[in-house]
Amino acid sequence: MRVGIIALLHESNTFIARPTTVDHFRENWLFTGETIRTQLADTPHEVGGFFAGLADQQIEAVPLLAARAVPFGPISAACFDTLCETMRTELAAAGPLDGVLVAPHGATVSESFPDADGHWLTELRNLIGPDRPIIGTLDAHANLSQRMIDATDALIAYRTNPHLDQRERGVEAATMIARALRGDIKPTQAAAFPPVAINIERQLTSDPPCQSFFELADRMRREAGVLSNSILLGFPYADVAEMGSAVITVTDNDPAGARRAAGTLADYLWEHRSEFAGQLLEIEAALDRADTLSGPIGLLDMGDNVGGGSPADSTHLLHAIVARGTTPAFVCLYDPAAVQQANDVGAGGRLEMAVGGKTDRLHGQPFKGTFTVCGLYNGRFHEPETRHGGFSNCDQGLTAVVRTDHGVTVMLTSRRMPPFSLHQLTTFEVDPTQFHLLVAKGVNAPVAAYTPVCRHLLRVNTPGCTTADMTMLKFEHRRRPLFPFEDGFAWNPN
Ligand SMILES: [Zn+2]
Repeated sequence: MRVGIIALLHESNTFIARPTTVDHFRENWLFTGETIRTQLADTPHEVGGFFAGLADQQIEAVPLLAARAVPFGPISAACFDTLCETMRTELAAAGPLDGVLVAPHGATVSESFPDADGHWLTELRNLIGPDRPIIGTLDAHANLSQRMIDATDALIAYRTNPHLDQRERGVEAATMIARALRGDIKPTQAAAFPPVAINIERQLTSDPPCQSFFELADRMRREAGVLSNSILLGFPYADVAEMGSAVITVTDNDPAGARRAAGTLADYLWEHRSEFAGQLLEIEAALDRADTLSGPIGLLDMGDNVGGGSPADSTHLLHAIVARGTTPAFVCLYDPAAVQQANDVGAGGRLEMAVGGKTDRLHGQPFKGTFTVCGLYNGRFHEPETRHGGFSNCDQGLTAVVRTDHGVTVMLTSRRMPPFSLHQLTTFEVDPTQFHLLVAKGVNAPVAAYTPVCRHLLRVNTPGCTTADMTMLKFEHRRRPLFPFEDGFAWNPN
């Protein structure tokens, strides 16, 4: 038996005006055919799990397309056309397939299709017909649509945030498709859409309130006839009808049971909705607290959450740290022009320059200072451990590490790089244990990387296009009513 593999992953932030293009995919993944196996089979990503799971089941894996770009604005119409066209071409050239394993992100928006995942999965279904299984994975931040459910036989979301079980979920999907192909099971899935937008600050799965919700899902998953269930936390930074939470249950040939179980999970979230509203800590309050704690302290810059699509050059925390003189401190900024200036001076040189704050005023003013260039690097690093997103081989482009005379170390990168790995620091001779404050531009995703060195992590409500204060974002297309934007309305999952 032969099973195709298609991965198309992008978390699209519609509050960013600039689109994600084919070049952004080329910077990360734009692979077809056997290159996918050589690049991804051994990684902690779900596509690695697909290969391992199919091999265990003695099924031939037929890799077709793997495309991923770092989260940013919606995918341009031309780029999305190219990706869909590549999928069609690879599928046509693959020969007969018994089924397809898919890895959509679930929060992908293109300029032409707000529900881009629903679009390409439906196109795939139309191409391979109704009888062959399409089973796959979803990022826990998916903004699920009924279209994604209708186009597939089963979808299985990551159960952790930071996402550390991606490979495991990939193996699970591969095992399920093998059992379905052998006729051992017949997956039947149902989704429910509780009208709740879970605040990003409440989305750490190992802590309350998510912890109890996932424990309930784990208990229900062990019931007879339940093949899988999923909780979608949702991605708040997409102004689309699907934005918000959802749940999926997959049963063995029992559609009514799937609907019932999905309703139970949805009902839990609805009943506990007030616990999922954010608790926001402002910049000055966060720095006050940091003054009372022993370091290193990770300051999670929620407004400039690179893994949520933000520009990676916000300076709000940098200005506040310098104003208070809370050092030694570290911050990483995307600023290719400043990298070039540092490169022109060379390692050991000194220069005056403005760093960061170059995208727009929402993410702060540039920070002007006198810097010593500590080192210049090619920006490539490797993460051997399982970290959020299955990132293992990373390239942030030419990188400069510079330092002020007052104890602030700034890493300047030529590409936007989310803070998912401490090797992003150590590879470039930055020792994270030497700082009182480490700014990490994310919310929950950096936790896996930063917990080993940070005694405390503080989530800071900074301004930006990934603000944790959802009332700051102007939504036109979201579903209504939706808690916490609307309150005091009734809802029944059935
Ligand atoms: Zn995610």
